[in-house]
Amino acid sequence: MHFSDLTIYHLFTMGFCGAETYNDDCKKIEHRLFKILKILGYLKKLGINTILLGPLFSSESHGYDTTDYYLVDRRLGTNEDLMMIIEQCHKMGFRVVLDGVFNHTGRRFFAFKDVQEKREKSSYKEWFKNINFYGNNQYDDGFSYENWAGCENLVKLNLQNSEVKTYLNGVIAAWIDTFNIDGLRMDAANVMDLGFLKEISQFSKSKKKDFLFIGEAVQGDYNVLVHQGGLDSVTNYEDYKGLYSSLNDKNYFEIAYSFNRLFEKEKGLYKDFYTYNFVDNHDVNRIASTLNNKNCLNIIYLMLLTMPGIPSIYYGSELAIEGVKGDGTDVPLRPIYEDLNFDEKHPLYKDLSKMMSIRKKLALLRYGQYSEMFVQSQQFGYIRTFEDQEGLILFNSDEQDCAIVHEKLVGTFYDCYQNETLNLHRSVVIPACSGRILVDPNFWESLSGSEEETLGKKENRQKTTLQDFMKIALIEAKKGFAEGEVPIGAIIVKDDKIIAANHNRKEALKDPTAHAEMLVIREAAQKLQQWRLEECDLYVTAEPCPMCMGAIIQSRIKKLVYGATEKKFGAVESTAFLGKHPMLLKNFEIYPGICEENCQELLKQFFSNKR
Ligand SMILES: [Zn+2]
Repeated sequence: MHFSDLTIYHLFTMGFCGAETYNDDCKKIEHRLFKILKILGYLKKLGINTILLGPLFSSESHGYDTTDYYLVDRRLGTNEDLMMIIEQCHKMGFRVVLDGVFNHTGRRFFAFKDVQEKREKSSYKEWFKNINFYGNNQYDDGFSYENWAGCENLVKLNLQNSEVKTYLNGVIAAWIDTFNIDGLRMDAANVMDLGFLKEISQFSKSKKKDFLFIGEAVQGDYNVLVHQGGLDSVTNYEDYKGLYSSLNDKNYFEIAYSFNRLFEKEKGLYKDFYTYNFVDNHDVNRIASTLNNKNCLNIIYLMLLTMPGIPSIYYGSELAIEGVKGDGTDVPLRPIYEDLNFDEKHPLYKDLSKMMSIRKKLALLRYGQYSEMFVQSQQFGYIRTFEDQEGLILFNSDEQDCAIVHEKLVGTFYDCYQNETLNLHRSVVIPACSGRILVDPNFWESLSGSEEETLGKKENRQKTTLQDFMKIALIEAKKGFAEGEVPIGAIIVKDDKIIAANHNRKEALKDPTAHAEMLVIREAAQKLQQWRLEECDLYVTAEPCPMCMGAIIQSRIKKLVYGATEKKFGAVESTAFLGKHPMLLKNFEIYPGICEENCQELLKQFFSNKR
């Protein structure tokens, strides 16, 4: 595997899950990590294969002020929740990379509390950088210490101390062994000790093959981090700036210069590794707000997905949402799951998913050498070459179509972005605010039958199935509605065939246990003449209650798919967490939030009629 095969989706976990701003240790645990499962199908369709989760271990506030590296933050859930979620991600073919905050800790970290208490006598006083018992700090601890970027709530660890190193190695070992993570993004890598970085990189890779080790570096020479710090990739802030400002200033020369500097096949500074490329993240304004001309959103992503390196999408930006860093509030940059509609019909989502599938198909976009083709203020073209194939990638940021003349533009090409075959005689027209990806038509044709493509088709087929079956459960729910029952419908599917369908019938049968799930489980068991339903999938329009989860556990159902969350009765994510009951099948799968809106709407309608 090459790291440039990765397409990353970056979730700021605390924001996405809707965690409170501050961690109150007395509050009850909230199982909010579960929301991640609700978008896995959406991400798969988009073409994502790796999920980067922002900090999620116990912290004082945003996650970068860690207080316990071994415990999932109570505002997000439990260690078991995280294990289950990562396991489910793996089942669906995603890798999971965590944000590792090892440069500094929060002030409530146990070792720092020990120093506050015992001062010179603390055996942890060497764990932190430059503790000075003659100094003081804003919290009046009676000593001073080094911090991160002037923030005294972030206490800098002494990464040269052997006990600290042993401790953090233990943390990483636990994250790999317990949670089975596939990589780390090292926060603030550019101010960390290179020797330490190299050590933990080697250690992680010795524990897990293909472990990805990305460094966050706003400034500095990425080569030093890669070659001396053992990182696989570094956040490419240089091109982050160039990508948008070359559009805003109508000056493609800027980004062209930078691409040459970084990627040029002979002299490029970073031609030997894959940079981590992005157009926005949790620390900067949303790209839809940054760009002066919103019509250029699609081409900035087209560049992100065709330039050398690993592309990363910041959650929500695939829906073109806006967000500006405000004073005091990060909400626009870190929205909650419920505020994003994750609409698969959004034009940018659809366009991105197309770009991703082209990238998946064309190895030259992932591994190809880079060379510039031409550049003018609002038009830019580059060539990616891999093995004996070339791709010409062209951009036009002008509001008018633009004709380009170039000696390379001779012969027949297939434009896999615009889906057309072109016969060119030294020139081509690039549509306004758009681009082209030109390849040899025979080569493109030869890829159509490739295994990857068939695989993609298979995945798609499976995905439509979830929604399709849910629609049938919804029809059942509507029958219930007509009969004056709380409208919840369920079906049981075996080998792609429906073997039982029913709806809630509590009123009709005068039976408090006549929930839709109970009825279909009984019906299916009768039909199969056995109580074990190991090969069966249950679809239900609402989150099952404790009783029905009990029946699901008892019947050994293989897969549970449900629509609406049930805040009051739900026993999968709302009031209890029975989806990880030890008696469930080992490979039990849960798909929450399928057709959620339709399912919810029906219930809402029912209860508003009642009132
Ligand atoms: Zn029930």
